[in-house]
Amino acid sequence: MRLSKTFIKTLREAPKDEVARNGALLTRAGYIHKELAGVYDYLPLGLRVLENIKRIIREELTKIDSEEVQLTSLQNPEIWEKTGRFSDQQVDIWFKTEVTGGGVLGLAPTHEEPITNLMRTYISSYKDLPRSVFQIQTKFRNEKRAKSGILRGREFIMKDMYSFHATEEDLDRYYAEVEKAYARIYERLGLSETYETFASGGIFAKYSHEYQTFLPVGEDTVYYNSDRSVVLNEEVYNDEVLADLNVRREELETTTAAEVGNIFKLKVKYSEPLGLQFSSEDNQLKTVYMGCYGIGVSRVMGVIAEKYADEKGLVWPEQIAPFKYYLVGIGESGVARAEEIYAAHADKILYDDRNARPGEKFADAELMGIPYRVVISDKTLAENCAEVTNRRTGESKLVKLTELTID
Ligand code: ATP
Ligand code: MG
Repeated sequence: MRLSKTFIKTLREAPKDEVARNGALLTRAGYIHKELAGVYDYLPLGLRVLENIKRIIREELTKIDSEEVQLTSLQNPEIWEKTGRFSDQQVDIWFKTEVTGGGVLGLAPTHEEPITNLMRTYISSYKDLPRSVFQIQTKFRNEKRAKSGILRGREFIMKDMYSFHATEEDLDRYYAEVEKAYARIYERLGLSETYETFASGGIFAKYSHEYQTFLPVGEDTVYYNSDRSVVLNEEVYNDEVLADLNVRREELETTTAAEVGNIFKLKVKYSEPLGLQFSSEDNQLKTVYMGCYGIGVSRVMGVIAEKYADEKGLVWPEQIAPFKYYLVGIGESGVARAEEIYAAHADKILYDDRNARPGEKFADAELMGIPYRVVISDKTLAENCAEVTNRRTGESKLVKLTELTID
């Protein structure tokens, strides 16, 4: 991408009402634009980051035989009334909209009801099980506080996956596979300080599992033991739970964390009221067992931004960065050589071909957090080299042009 051709600009200041660091930095670096509190546009660089996150998630979920779908945002109240969840008393974050000619539709905050209803068309026999589907889709929630940048949106992007099973044992088997897939996903996202955490399971299960990334600005508080084999959300922190998990209060430390995902054994919570049944091998009508598995895709982007940023701006891990290289040519021959390199690897390079001072370009390269800055000037050309600077460590080295690999 040529910076001379893009409409985005870096900004010296973030909007005054943007109090969260992820929101401020992503806005200043030209990744996002704020429409309203908790409502953001994704600009070309931001979209590339989101796509990188989605690609990693897709690859890992496809490995555990999940199929991608995209359900609608507009929701039929009748389906949700079967579980009681269309009521604002039950679910207090609905956005609802009136339909011309009468009636109300909801804007989906999640998709358990419609996916369960949809599967009634396709699951009727034990031969149709197990199945797993996921989507990466926009959700709407009328959140009370939306002051954390893209960590908490009123419109945000979630990956939600749902699995369908003939027995509870099969649900347990698949749930364990999802746990392994999630560990791989967070590792690949660069969020290795992410722990599976015991959380309240609501009324249908004792516990659910959250995925919490230790983060100073995280909204949640967690307790953890020294080897972090036990991590629990403070909402379940009591003597009974500690006894269950076989840990003592004195062993635990506390920190703040951001919930980047969660997984839940729904069992028959939705399939029963919505009538998702199958005929078993011995010809009995049985209720399908379900699991659901979420990841906050846009929140993950904010968490990565928060976790790696430094005083100069964003710092993206290579696999998440919108481009791996930020290219600057200085002087006539430097520019000519930069043009050649760009022409050969345009998809990997953010090429700063603007008519601007090198210092300005270097500051933008740092603010945007591109992993490697490549500078070609008369000085470096005199040695047949490019200067390559690592954004994270700040280290620069001269690399022979013949050995410069853009991969
Ligand atoms: P939270 O406690 O943070 O409100 P939740 O329990 O409501 O989360 P789920 O309904 O399980 O979350 O959604 C799945 C995932 O989507 C969460 O783990 C989180 O990463 C993400 N998420 C939830 N709400 C938001 C939001 N308002 N903005 C961005 N991401 C969100
Ligand atoms: Mg919530």
